[in-house]
Amino acid sequence: MSRIKKRIDMPSQEPKQRGRNFQEVALGYSPEDAAAEASRCIHCPKEPCVAGCPVEIDIPAFIKLIAEENFAEAAAKIKEKNSLPAICGRVCPQENQCEGVCTLGKRGEPIAIGALERFAADWERLHAPDQKMPEPKKQEGKVAVVGSGPAGLTVAAELARIGYEVTVFEALHVPGGVLSYGIPEFRLPKGIVRHEIEYVESLGVRLLTNVVIGRTITVEQLLDKGYHAVFIGAGAGLPHFLNIPGENLNGVFSANEFLTRVNLMKAYEFPVYDTPVKLGKKVIVVGAGNTAMDAARNALRLGSDVTIVYRRSRQEMPARLAEIHHAEEEGIEFRLLTNPTKIIGEGGWVKAMECIKMELGEPDQSGRRRPVPISGSEFILDCDSVIIAVGQSPNPILTKSLPGLEMTKWGTVVVDQETMQTSIPGIFAGGDITSGGTTVIEAMGDGKKAARGIHAYLQKKALV
Ligand code: FAD
Ligand code: SF4
Repeated sequence: MSRIKKRIDMPSQEPKQRGRNFQEVALGYSPEDAAAEASRCIHCPKEPCVAGCPVEIDIPAFIKLIAEENFAEAAAKIKEKNSLPAICGRVCPQENQCEGVCTLGKRGEPIAIGALERFAADWERLHAPDQKMPEPKKQEGKVAVVGSGPAGLTVAAELARIGYEVTVFEALHVPGGVLSYGIPEFRLPKGIVRHEIEYVESLGVRLLTNVVIGRTITVEQLLDKGYHAVFIGAGAGLPHFLNIPGENLNGVFSANEFLTRVNLMKAYEFPVYDTPVKLGKKVIVVGAGNTAMDAARNALRLGSDVTIVYRRSRQEMPARLAEIHHAEEEGIEFRLLTNPTKIIGEGGWVKAMECIKMELGEPDQSGRRRPVPISGSEFILDCDSVIIAVGQSPNPILTKSLPGLEMTKWGTVVVDQETMQTSIPGIFAGGDITSGGTTVIEAMGDGKKAARGIHAYLQKKALV
């Protein structure tokens, strides 16, 4: 097996070209590139990459299968632990997880584990039918899962594999959570999300859309209807705002609304699809997390000039480095150490934004240096649309309908970190509703832990 030292880059669309279309930016490995990249793995004895993966994929084993050009088996190996591999291969921050601890990274470049995971899953989708899982022995117990994001899909898939009857209830008309309504087509094509959700359904999971738990039906009613345990994976979809004058003007969007219009409702193909998005020529996006980058890059593709306004410096930007690079390459302007103070309107519509310059002071509770306004440094930026992407928290519709559910002061649900059980026996939770917002793979890791917790709970219940 030949060992090449240099990591093989994944080809991608040129920045100028991709800024004008919604097609996927990263193009994926060819079989030759995948096998060559996989053959760089030295199969180090400690395999730190495995512990770096929140869903415990046997990374060295699937990489070996790719190096041997045994692509279908590589995909099956990943699916033993992860039901959403093509999604994770695209959106996981591998640099902080498996690749961040890869032994090869100490002296050179880590193995491109994410790109290889994506390759195996794509290869299987395009060239081989999904492998049929052996039919599990039926278990006594019906489980309801609230929310079809990565946390809900994972707990559902894991429990179906053990043999439980599982139904997922989703408030929106399309399943997938942020994977469907938040992350843009050009980073995560929706056909791929659909395919992996169909795979979860093929394991025996029943998926019902347009059901808002807490409104259409309550958790208590689900228990009365014969469900023995409930998992809450309702995410953190309630957007935060800046609370500055002018935020209710026409032309101001939360990133959540903007991304939902574009990604889920396909506003970029209006009027072929019914939902429009009225965006101006000059758009300001406030914030510098992944959501802000996604909103900015979507706005650019809709034909606007886009500026990101962020109150701290580049070093504190929470978005993945790769996303920041992509945004810069595509021509998005960054105004750092700048904070909005007022949105100025004319005839009810946004016309400009007043900002103030900031400097960094002492570190705050988050450990990051606190941004401090420089008095008298106010200035005006022209714009006709503003997208606010400064964080979100869990929507209280469901949690308010559950008396006795212990919550934190941030509106997240308190759980036992081992079992993911809440303060109410038989009710479990995980993903963004417990963390306040992390990553797809962390939400899936919670789903795995909760599946074990629910299994143990139901087994114990059956013995009583
Ligand atoms: P969600 O994905 O939010 O799913 C929750 C689901 O529950 C939704 O479908 C919602 O409609 C449904 N629901 C809510 N209330 C109810 C109810 N009462 N009844 C029924 N259903 C309900 N992470 C990464 O790892 N990589 C990235 O590149 C990345 N990019 C992101 C980009 C954006 C724009 C955003 C917003 C987030 C991004 N994240 C990324 C974070 C990641 O998407 C989330 O951490 C993850 O989706 C959380 O999963 P979840 O299952 O907890 O919740
Ligand atoms: Fe291979 Fe890196 Fe994992 Fe070691 S840590 S087994 S080199 S992928």
